[in-house]
Amino acid sequence: MAAPDTILILGGTTEARALAARLTGSVTQRVLTSLAGRTTTPEAIAGETRVGGFGGAAGLARYIAEARVVLVVDATHPFAAAISANAVAACGRVGVPCLRLERPAWRPLPDDRWQVVANIPAAARAIPPGARALVTVGRQEIQAFLEREDIHFVARMIEPPGIAIPDRAELLLARPPFTVEDENRLMRERAIDVLVTKNSGGSASVAKLMAARQRALPVIMVERPVKPPVPAAPDVDSMLDLISGALP
Ligand code: NAP
Repeated sequence: MAAPDTILILGGTTEARALAARLTGSVTQRVLTSLAGRTTTPEAIAGETRVGGFGGAAGLARYIAEARVVLVVDATHPFAAAISANAVAACGRVGVPCLRLERPAWRPLPDDRWQVVANIPAAARAIPPGARALVTVGRQEIQAFLEREDIHFVARMIEPPGIAIPDRAELLLARPPFTVEDENRLMRERAIDVLVTKNSGGSASVAKLMAARQRALPVIMVERPVKPPVPAAPDVDSMLDLISGALP
């Protein structure tokens, strides 16, 4: 029997999981979520899942053709730049529509003290000497901060980085969401004087920005990488509308 038509969700985010839950059973196509395989214990996802890279844009194009993918929804994290570029290139190659589900970026309020930087190395360089920073970046991005021997920092991430953390830093393993009270307490107890974060957007980890605002702390904000333009939606409901217009 021929494989059924498939909607491929490139996942790894809360929004991707929510989209899979809404689509599964409500469309005639098979709903398949792809994960990179970075998280050892991913949360349950509705529909089918597959894990691991495709082998660049060419590999993804082959996969799309072989798995009878009729639509790709790139619901990866705003900072996952390679897979988004691959998705656009692969879909272009095989003539399949590519949509993007991307949560809006955070914006500063008038009294916020943001220093916007282009990337993680720039964020590590921007921390003032002697500072006590709360660094909320992924485990693969922590190296640049470890190279700063003149700062103390709390590195908060979901899974251990797999590298040694020196005494001047503290590793804190925790999974969002966090409350503003939690974030305030953490900043107070560790005497944090600067927050470092990527502009991931969304509500699950926004409490740290609210706590920083209440404490009048400066924020070093890493801006998002630029992704190739495709039809995009900021939330699951608007993505469902886009999908119904894009399906063959
Ligand atoms: P990336 O730099 O854009 O991707 C690197 C490579 O990983 C891609 O070229 C691809 O390998 C593979 N890959 C990435 N996402 C994939 C997916 N959903 N399914 C199959 N293969 C995937 O991505 P990243 O920043 O390492 O992020 C990896 C995953 O973690 C993404 O799915 C993303 O949604 C999630 N995530 C990332 C962040 C972040 O801050 N970057 C935060 C939370 C969650 P091939 O070229 O071999 O296909």
